[in-house]
Amino acid sequence: MTAPGPPVLAATVTARQRLALGVGSEIGFHTAGHRYVPGSALRGALAAVWITEHGPPGRGNPKTDEFRTLFDGAIRYGNLLPAGSHRTPLSVFQCKYSPEPTCAETVVDRAFETGDHCPGCGQRLEQSRGNLDTPGGLTRITRTSIDPATGRAKDGELYANAALPAGTTLTGRIHGHHPWLTQPRTLWLGGRRTVGGQADLTTTVYRLAAPAPPAPGQPLVVRLTSPAVFVDLAGRPRLTPEPTLDLIPGATLLPETWTRAITWSGWHAASRLPKPAELCATAGSTYRIAGDPEILATLATRLLRDGIGLRRSEGFGDVTIATQPWRPTAAAGKKDDGLDPLSKLHKELLDIGLDDAAWRWLIGVLRALQVEHHRTGAVPADLLMDLLKQPTAADLSGRQRDQLRQTLDGLTPATLRDLTTLVLTTPAADRQRAAQRTAR
Ligand SMILES: [Zn+2]
Repeated sequence: MTAPGPPVLAATVTARQRLALGVGSEIGFHTAGHRYVPGSALRGALAAVWITEHGPPGRGNPKTDEFRTLFDGAIRYGNLLPAGSHRTPLSVFQCKYSPEPTCAETVVDRAFETGDHCPGCGQRLEQSRGNLDTPGGLTRITRTSIDPATGRAKDGELYANAALPAGTTLTGRIHGHHPWLTQPRTLWLGGRRTVGGQADLTTTVYRLAAPAPPAPGQPLVVRLTSPAVFVDLAGRPRLTPEPTLDLIPGATLLPETWTRAITWSGWHAASRLPKPAELCATAGSTYRIAGDPEILATLATRLLRDGIGLRRSEGFGDVTIATQPWRPTAAAGKKDDGLDPLSKLHKELLDIGLDDAAWRWLIGVLRALQVEHHRTGAVPADLLMDLLKQPTAADLSGRQRDQLRQTLDGLTPATLRDLTTLVLTTPAADRQRAAQRTAR
């Protein structure tokens, strides 16, 4: 029923050195309270690698067209988020008082549900701020170039106010596909080489599952997964999509929206002067769009492929389509995912008897599923089906495919994360022994 969606690359970056996230040069931005690698930084770091390989683009460089296609065309570089991080959308209201056990479980996603007060304690629910929660591991660094009087960088110097430790894994998406992007690369992210930033990038191609259209009469729920730059017809900033510029005829933005303004400033590399701050709608902003189901399905496909608003190639305006109310994932289900069920799943995977190439492919599949979960808060079953149909999965037997589907279908995000870790760290000898057992 679902047509294949646009091709995307699941990007996994592992920091070899500390990654300084914060104010940077041309490849970094300062956003208080948002700790991640912006898509612009990934794009800049990859462009630097390309130039190292092929020389600067321009007249006389026969590969200039490739550079333009990669970095100046339709390919969009999404943000890289620390693995295990999650963002609560702004349409989510929760009980912050928590005197009763019911309080912690009270979650109302107003994009889908109603409710103002906590059934446990009767207090008014509070709106999420859309902040990114990262699981531990953020190191604070103060560089001497910060002027203590203003808290700002002196003379356009680089500084960093937060860093992720070496070994941190970040995941994200590159929208679009190009063979150059499918090779593993070593990158420098988030600052000068002297302050760290070395990281390894791997990518896996997959196709996004086409978004399920809302039922007749239901609105399309769109959430920002990165800040978005919206303007009105006169070019003035706004915090909601502008119907003429950002939507399609027949689609109407419903008046109740959940958004918050942030300012986003970067440094202009050439002049070493700050760029004017851009007013953005923060990631986690949520909008509902009404219209006929076919129009909404067309719009959903376009938004997933192209993003929304201005400066999209730099990682602004990345969206996801929500089909159900948001629910917390981190704490839920931990008790049920003890070591034994997890080991059982791991053994099931081993017993499928995958060879080296298929095992590497499996790692890519698990990462793609994780990226999808980080982005949308859910692991769509369609995506697993699409991954199993990939050309690289062609060497699997029908039995292996069925077993993979049975093992991987319907995993909770926590289990998926832990299982990925187990798969990544499986010694080759264990795998070969299992393959021999299976062959007998
Ligand atoms: Zn309560």
